[in-house]
Parts: sequence; C-alpha cells; structure tokens
Amino acid sequence: MLDDPSDIPFRVTDFKQWVYCPRVLYYHYCLPAVRPVTYKMRAGSEAGQHTEELEERRSLRVYGLTSGERRYNVALASARLGLRGVADMVIDVDAGGAREVIPVDFKDSDQAGPHFVLQLVAYALMLEEAWGCSVRRGFLYLIPLRRAEEVPIDRRLRTRFANARDGMMAMLNREGMPAPTAQVNKCVVCEFRRFCNDVL
Ligand code: SF4
Repeated sequence: MLDDPSDIPFRVTDFKQWVYCPRVLYYHYCLPAVRPVTYKMRAGSEAGQHTEELEERRSLRVYGLTSGERRYNVALASARLGLRGVADMVIDVDAGGAREVIPVDFKDSDQAGPHFVLQLVAYALMLEEAWGCSVRRGFLYLIPLRRAEEVPIDRRLRTRFANARDGMMAMLNREGMPAPTAQVNKCVVCEFRRFCNDVL
C-alpha cells in the first residue's frame, strides 16, 4: 500500500501497456525481471533519436507554426499525478505575448493509437503543472509517414486520462491482478501468456 503519490513510479510509457492489457502493467511492476527488451522497443528508441536529428533541420510548418523554440527531451515529473517521463519535444511559442506550450511525441508508427494519445495528454498535464501554463493541444509525429497529427487536449481526453490513471493507481494500491483483456487475440502473442492461467 502506498500513501505518498510521489512514491508511485509510474512512467508515461506505462499507458501503452495499460491500454493494451492492464494485466501487462501489473506483471511489469510485480515481475520486472521477466520483461525482455524486445527488438521493437530498441528500434523505437533509435527511430526517435534519428527523428530528433532530422527535426533540427525541419521547418515548424509541419506543426502549422511559423515560429517557436524547440526543446528536446524535457524531463517531467508530478507527485500529484504519480507520473514521470521525458517529453520528446516541447515547442514554446510566444505569439505576441500569448505563450503557447505544445508537447510533441515522436512515434515509430503510422497510427496515432489511443495509448499514444494518453501519453501525450500525460505530458500536457505535467507541463501545465511544472510550467504554470495551459496546454490546449499537442502533436504525435508519425515517423514512417513524416506527418504530425494534432491532438486537442480537451475535456474528453482529460477525462479518459484521469480514468486510466485512477485505474493504474487502484491496481498498485491494492496490488491486485486486473482482469484479463477481453481481446483473446492479444493473448496469443503476449510475452506474459505463461503467467496467465485463465486465458486461452
Ligand atoms: S496473456 Fe492476455 S490477459 Fe495475460 S497479460 Fe497477456 S494480454 Fe493480458
């Protein structure tokens, strides 16, 4: 049982597992030694690094902007949210005295999946807390497509984020195994299948 939210070491990337199957995240925290670093994870990291180099040469027009200061690998943490992570890039725009802060996440994917969206919302909320600003949008930069997808940080997504994060906190606090995913096809290729005796 954890009483202090700052003791809860959730990473923003944990939303990926939570959306895929909450039980995967449970295993990650309870059996961290069994989780291998897959080729896909390594490749994704390397792709993000390469994109940062390309980003330096790219115009901000891909984000619909004409000016702004780009900051890379912005470390963020929130004891209130019990979250920590590193935003790939933050664009700080000074539009005639009206500041806009825009998080950007580079993804080695051709789809802006729901787990990516939740991660972006997490960065937005941590930026709001750390920088004392309001974040109204972010971008998912899809590396294979060389395209930036704008994501509005609106009430609907904030609520979805809060529900996911509350579920993760509840799992950690009660240290209970969540129900298996209803999508059995995920179990077929899951690296944790041997620990789930109630599926397949
Ligand atoms: S085997 Fe299925 S239920 Fe178990 S962790 Fe994997 S996806 Fe989730």
